[in-house]
Amino acid sequence: MDTTQILWKIYEYEKEIEKLKNRKEFLEANKNLEELSEGLNEKKYDITNFKTQLEVDNMKIKRLNHKLKEINFQIKDTNSRLYSGDISNVKKLTKLQKEEADLKQEKEKLENEILELMENVETNTKDLYNSEKTYEQLETKYKNSEKDNINKLNDIKEQIKELENKIEELKSSLEDEILSKYETLKTKKSKPISKLDDDKCTGCHMSIASIVVSKVKKGKEVVYCDNCGRILYYEEDNN
Ligand SMILES: [Zn+2]
Repeated sequence: MDTTQILWKIYEYEKEIEKLKNRKEFLEANKNLEELSEGLNEKKYDITNFKTQLEVDNMKIKRLNHKLKEINFQIKDTNSRLYSGDISNVKKLTKLQKEEADLKQEKEKLENEILELMENVETNTKDLYNSEKTYEQLETKYKNSEKDNINKLNDIKEQIKELENKIEELKSSLEDEILSKYETLKTKKSKPISKLDDDKCTGCHMSIASIVVSKVKKGKEVVYCDNCGRILYYEEDNN
């Protein structure tokens, strides 16, 4: 490899490292994990709500059932007084009949309330079950994602290290002066070395004098673009 080929290789490896570093940064920000974590929190909130609602409804049902028992007892009592034959006073009888009717109405109201609550409990139990299932799935996804992230990050770190080693090796074969020129160019331009495309510098798109082009093609020395100052590189199989 001649000097410009080595410089080009260094440049390509550096570009690759940059891409890997961007990917690494993205993974470290854990965007997908963040979203999953938000989803988990939402589900956790739902689960707590369903559980609280179920507790409240079950308590209400218990209380209403207790009340219903009392009313049933009262109805039985009124009934036995009504049909015992002990009461002959019409006014008293009418009063008792009214009492019985009121109690029966109250009973029906209670039974309807209980029924409605039981329906709520059924729905909430289903919703709770589904939420818990979704939560479990999300949790598994989160854990896998976390593991996957760590593996990917380790892989990237290794790739970066390998590339850095390759760059070091290539740099050690270059003269200090050329290397420092390359480094200086790199601080000024994101692309310190540019390919020749026919007689054009792909860095600044200006035409290069044919005498310079032939110098670049020979590859015996490092040639700079007159216009932008970049190192010029010629790739033989470049069409
Ligand atoms: Zn140029």
